[in-house]
Amino acid sequence: MQYKRILLKLSGEALMGDRDYGIDPKRLKEYALEIKQVVEKGIEVAIVIGGGNIFRGVSGAANGMDRVQGDHMGMLATCINGLALQSALEDVGVYTRMQTALEIKEVAEPYIKRKAIRHLEKGRVVIFGAGTGNPYFTTDTAAVLRAIEIDADAILKGTRVDGIYNDDPEKNKDAIKFETITFKDVIEKGLKVMDMTAFTLSEENKLPIIVFDMNKNGNLVKLVSGEPIGTIVDY
Ligand code: UDP
Repeated sequence: MQYKRILLKLSGEALMGDRDYGIDPKRLKEYALEIKQVVEKGIEVAIVIGGGNIFRGVSGAANGMDRVQGDHMGMLATCINGLALQSALEDVGVYTRMQTALEIKEVAEPYIKRKAIRHLEKGRVVIFGAGTGNPYFTTDTAAVLRAIEIDADAILKGTRVDGIYNDDPEKNKDAIKFETITFKDVIEKGLKVMDMTAFTLSEENKLPIIVFDMNKNGNLVKLVSGEPIGTIVDY
């Protein structure tokens, strides 16, 4: 097995499925079943989930809302998604714990690194909610930060596209996919993998990023089994 401990980053938008807003229960169940298979392989799984399907601070600010207020709403949105994912995972028999960067202690544990690691060692999936707990950051940055803190082998970024291309594959059908690419090449070629804060944090800490299509059934399991799925960004 290639990985012992992974950090899976799921965007909030991915949870929408075919909807325009909110959470699609069918999509949630598919994700839960796929994550269950990874856990059954003995791989430790931590998850950071976004909130873009519910609220984004920048969109609030664009409409005149105070940015920090909007970001607090965005962070709470990630907790809503986290709770939904937790429930879906437990429905299919996966043990979980949710930890949040903002305290909502009646709902979830506060984030404590040592405790998170202990949960992982016991085979529980740990969902990290509320991003980094700070405004002006993204859940991609939270994912990289937590991955480094818990010493994950890699960050697996589940997206709608199956990897990193030299051009937008949704617009250019001749775009070529990279199997692997270095952090340096991503920057030199001006490719977009994550926001710069998240990306440089990953680079500085030598944390590989794997971008893959999470919506294709079986992809996550294949990836952790060592099949060449998605694109690996490495140093
Ligand atoms: N957010 C924040 N600090 C963080 C992480 C997230 O303020 O550390 C807020 C921010 O407003 C962001 C929203 O939460 O727009 C949802 O997160 P994100 O946009 O990263 O979600 P995704 O795009 O992955 O669905």
